[in-house]
Amino acid sequence: MDSTSPVNLLKRSPHDDKAHVLHPALEPGAKHWVPSRYNIRASAQDGRLIIWNTLRGSMSVFKAEQAETVISMLSQKGFEAPQRDLVKYLVERGILIQRGVNEYRQVQLIYGQQQFRPDVLQLILLASEDCNFRCQYCYEKFEHGTMHPLVRTGIKRMVEKRLPQLRNLHIEWFGGEPLYGLSAIEDIAPWVRDMAEKHGVRYSSAMTTNGYLLTPDVADKLLSWRLNHFQVTLDGPAEHHNQSRPARDGSETFQTIFNNLKSLAKRKDDFSVLLRVNFAPGNHEDVPRLMDQVRQELGTDSRFRFHFHPVGRWGGANDANVEVCGSSGFDISAQLKAEANERGLQVETLRGLNLPGAQVCYAARPYNLIIGATGKVMKCTVVLDTDERNIVGQIQPSGEMTLDPDKMGLWTEPAFESDNQCKKCIMLPNCQGISCPLVRMQTGESPCVPTRRYAKRQMLETLKYVDNGKVKQVPAMTR
Ligand code: SF4
Ligand code: SF4
Repeated sequence: MDSTSPVNLLKRSPHDDKAHVLHPALEPGAKHWVPSRYNIRASAQDGRLIIWNTLRGSMSVFKAEQAETVISMLSQKGFEAPQRDLVKYLVERGILIQRGVNEYRQVQLIYGQQQFRPDVLQLILLASEDCNFRCQYCYEKFEHGTMHPLVRTGIKRMVEKRLPQLRNLHIEWFGGEPLYGLSAIEDIAPWVRDMAEKHGVRYSSAMTTNGYLLTPDVADKLLSWRLNHFQVTLDGPAEHHNQSRPARDGSETFQTIFNNLKSLAKRKDDFSVLLRVNFAPGNHEDVPRLMDQVRQELGTDSRFRFHFHPVGRWGGANDANVEVCGSSGFDISAQLKAEANERGLQVETLRGLNLPGAQVCYAARPYNLIIGATGKVMKCTVVLDTDERNIVGQIQPSGEMTLDPDKMGLWTEPAFESDNQCKKCIMLPNCQGISCPLVRMQTGESPCVPTRRYAKRQMLETLKYVDNGKVKQVPAMTR
């Protein structure tokens, strides 16, 4: 024992006799607040203010009478105030931050947390690389049919080995036309559903299909295998669709698809269908007729949602003859959304796309792999095996997967770290500079998402179509 100290230093700290000084972050006093560098704000015609903080992914709507106060709190010089009431709310939404906080570091942290996930596995399985359609703009080669049985065995063995470490498993069926390879889906999908359940792994499954073979008996099977999210393309009303998306024998496809959708709409099951409409200069004016037909025959069922997409030259043999909309694509898409909304139909908005990492391409995530019908492992669903850089490995019937680390690195690198435009960009938390690694590889340029240019318009659209006039209540201002 120290002879000068009244306490036994081996048993008790002398600091315990002093009043505690809390860490500054826990002190209740005033702090200096400044606006986040990741705020995007837009004002609606009725005076409401909407602020999207891309780092938190929060979207906050303020009543007209609060807008001026909120804007006054967002000046760059900042202000001193205790963290309560409106200040507390703005801090919780990420709109205000304490002076000196390095938000870029937080983006790096979020990127790391989202990118390196040994507990997540997402597989895009090409059940068939062939297709029963021959769409005008298609970029695929149709060189292989249904997924080989040995490849299916390899997938099952690989998934079985990974399951004990997984928390999330997602299987996406793609092609060609995946339902052209139904026997591969029948082999794998119910097995994966059962195994995920057995291991307590969160499981989801989706399919991009042309819808021609999505008959009621096939839908019965798919839904029972928990494969319940579909993307189906309808290129406008029947005459346009039949021209741009004919069957491989040249016959019409619209009515068969539409009948399948009508049968789906009659079901009680929990599913979603994204109705993709590829529009081109020659067809967008007729798309509202398709909306009328959907409304009349499918109703305003919220399980069906429209997505309007300008046709592009996507690398197919027919590219030179494909007419594209160019820079007017966004305006046309906005106009089509307004038309759909007027008819009470659901449209895609920023909702769901507002979260950090939401606009990152799956090819950029190390846990996402495409497995082709012959066992090739790939990353990008557009170039598939036409670009050597995209063939990152091969799956063996044993379930072993040999991945080329150089190629995997090429697709999954944190490209924003060496891109000065990305480092300064307000969209960085959302797109992480990797919304399309292919564009970056092919052009050396930042693959900017349209939201970078059109964020305010998209925010106002979201306010109009989703919130339906409702304003979130925020605390009264008492500063
Ligand atoms: S890398 Fe680009 S082209 Fe390929 S799947 Fe991703 S977004 Fe599409
Ligand atoms: S790719 Fe474009 S939109 Fe995305 S972070 Fe970089 S500069 Fe911004």
